[in-house]
Amino acid sequence: MSLLSQDTAGLLFDDAGAIRQSDLRGGVSPWAAGFNRPIRQPLTQNIAVDVLIVGAGITGSMMAERLTRLGRQVCVIDRERPGFGSTAASTAMLEWEIDLPLVELAAIYGFERAAEIYRLSLDAVAGLYTLVSAMPHVSSLRRRSKVYLAGGDNGARELLAEHELRKRAGLPGAFVDHRALRAEFEFDREAAIVSPGSAEVDPLRLSHALLTAAAGRGAALFDAEAVGYDCGGRTVNVATDHGYTIEANHVVLATGYVMPDIVKSDLHKIASSWVIATPPQLPDRLWRDDALIWEASKNYLYARTTIDNRIVIGGEDDDQIVEPKARDALMPRKAEILLDKLKLLWPRADALAEFVWSGAFSTTVDGLPLIGTVPGHRNVFAAYGYGGNGITFSYMASQIISLLIAGQRRSWFDHFAIDRAPAA
Ligand SMILES: Cc1cc2nc3c(=O)[nH]c(=O)nc-3n(C[C@H](O)[C@H](O)[C@H](O)COP(=O)(O)OP(=O)(O)OC[C@H]3O[C@@H](n4cnc5c(N)ncnc54)[C@H](O)[C@@H]3O)c2cc1C
Repeated sequence: MSLLSQDTAGLLFDDAGAIRQSDLRGGVSPWAAGFNRPIRQPLTQNIAVDVLIVGAGITGSMMAERLTRLGRQVCVIDRERPGFGSTAASTAMLEWEIDLPLVELAAIYGFERAAEIYRLSLDAVAGLYTLVSAMPHVSSLRRRSKVYLAGGDNGARELLAEHELRKRAGLPGAFVDHRALRAEFEFDREAAIVSPGSAEVDPLRLSHALLTAAAGRGAALFDAEAVGYDCGGRTVNVATDHGYTIEANHVVLATGYVMPDIVKSDLHKIASSWVIATPPQLPDRLWRDDALIWEASKNYLYARTTIDNRIVIGGEDDDQIVEPKARDALMPRKAEILLDKLKLLWPRADALAEFVWSGAFSTTVDGLPLIGTVPGHRNVFAAYGYGGNGITFSYMASQIISLLIAGQRRSWFDHFAIDRAPAA
C-alpha cells in the first residue's frame, strides 16, 4: 500500500486514517511486552468522560498515569495494541540534550530562551527518572551519562563552543579532548562532551506499566478509533469507528506520528530510521559506564547498551524513503552499514545483528515537540513529542497538559506551542 503521495513524501503522512502500527515500524526490536499487558475493552455505548486520551503509546500512557494521579477521570482509546506503535521501535534513550545543539537552538531563539529550553529538558529527564524508578515492573531503568562524540563537521572546535555555551546556561558536562577520550573511554574521536543526567529504559514495558498504573486508578481503556472531532460546544464529541461517541470535557491527542486533521503544523516532517541490536556481549566488551553515545555529525549515529548487555545502534535516517515497504526493504542493507559503523566505533564488539528494525521517525525544524492547546480548539490538547527526545517530551507533555487542563499556564509553555514560529 502506498501511503504517501509523491509531492508529500518526506513531509507528512497524508492519509492519517490509513496509517497502521505496521506502517510505523518494521522488523523486530528486543523490547518485551509488559508483565501486565493492558487489556482493552470494546466500546459498546456512548460515554461521557472528563478527559479522553486518544492513543495508548508511551505518550498517552504517561498522560493517563499523571492525570489519574491528579484525580482526573480518564478514558484512553487506541485502535490497535497499546505500545506497539512507534513506542515499540524506540531505542528509549532518555536524554535531555535536544536534537538541535544549544548553539543552533540559540541561533533560532536567542540564548536565554534556548538555555531555558535545555534546562527544562534536563529537569524533565530528572522528573521522568523519579517517576519511573518508583514504579514496579520497570527494572530496565538505568541512570546513564552521555558521550556526545565529535563527528562530521562537528569537530573539537564546534564541541568546545557547544560546551562553553552549555556552561553559560548552567548545564552539566565536561569537554573531553582526543587524548582524554582515548584514555577514559577508548573512543577514537577528536573530542566529546560527557554529561550526566540521562537514562535508558525498555520503552514497551514502561508504556505498559504506566497504563497499568492508570488503570489501577480507574482509567478505562477502550479498543476504538477516533474518526471525527466535534469541538463546537462546551464539550468535545469524538466519533469512533463503531459509531459510538465519546463526550469529553478535554481531549488529549497522543496519536504519535499520525496527526488528525484538526492539528495543523508545518514544523515537522517524517523520515525513516534503522536500528540493530547485537547479541548479549561479554561485559568486558562494552564501553565505560554503558554510557549513551551520540555522534554529532549531520548523518548521526547513536548507541546504547541494554540490561542484558546488548549493543543497540541506530541512525542512517533518510527523509526521502518514507514509504513503509521501501523502508523495510532496506533493513538488510542498513543493518550492514550499522554493523560497519559499530566496528569503527567500538572494534571490541561482537558485531552481529540479532535484531533489526526500522521506524518512521518525525523531527521538527527546531528539534522541539508540539505540545499544548490545539489552536482554535480550547479543549483539545496535542502531545506530540518528536525527535530523539520523544520520550522526554512525552513526560513534558504530561506536565504541561495536566496544568492546562487545570486552567493553569506557565510562560515556558509557549516554547513548545503548536503555532510557534521559529526564526528562519
Ligand atoms: C527508531 C526510533 C528510535 C527512537 N529512539 C528514541 C530514543 O532513543 N529516545 C526517545 O526519547 N525517543 C526515541 N524515539 C521517539 C519515540 O519513540 C517516540 O517519540 C514515541 O515512541 C512516540 O510515542 P507515542 O505514544 O507518541 O506514539 P505511538 O507509540 O506511535 O502511539 C500512538 C498510538 O496512537 C494510536 N492511534 C493513532 N491514531 C489513532 C486514532 N485515530 N484513534 C485511536 N488510536 C490511534 C496508535 O495505534 C498508537 O498505538 C525513537 C523513535 C524511533 C522510531
